[in-house]
Amino acid sequence: MKAMVLEKILPVKERPLKLIDLPMPTPGSKQILVKVSACGVCHTELYEIEGRLSPIKFPIILGHEIVGRVERLGDTASKFKKGDRVGIAWINWACGKCSFCLKGEENLCDKAKWTGKDVDGGYAQYTVVSEDFAYPK
Ligand SMILES: [Zn+2]
Ligand SMILES: [Zn+2]
Repeated sequence: MKAMVLEKILPVKERPLKLIDLPMPTPGSKQILVKVSACGVCHTELYEIEGRLSPIKFPIILGHEIVGRVERLGDTASKFKKGDRVGIAWINWACGKCSFCLKGEENLCDKAKWTGKDVDGGYAQYTVVSEDFAYPK
């Protein structure tokens, strides 16, 4: 697949995103593979590119305001079917077990992962996400 990746922190004016070919990601257990239709750009990406909110891995695919269609279901994923339209947001995953998660406040989970910062995001043809953090559109 085609993807725009950030390999290192750089000023935005140096055009830091590079278009490369990557293997299509494989959805893991309870995950879905999503064919990206569109992905927004907001200040978060500028912060990430310039290092004010650094991604935790490089290279990384940024982008956390994703709309797309379900392409494939991972093992045991059952909330969606192929072709369903979904949205994926900034929160990509949370533990589901801590006091915040149990109150429905996953955004406060210490172990939460953020789309396009801790895991690859939407500036690509495909992305994977836990079905619990994809939203029907
Ligand atoms: Zn945003
Ligand atoms: Zn949690």
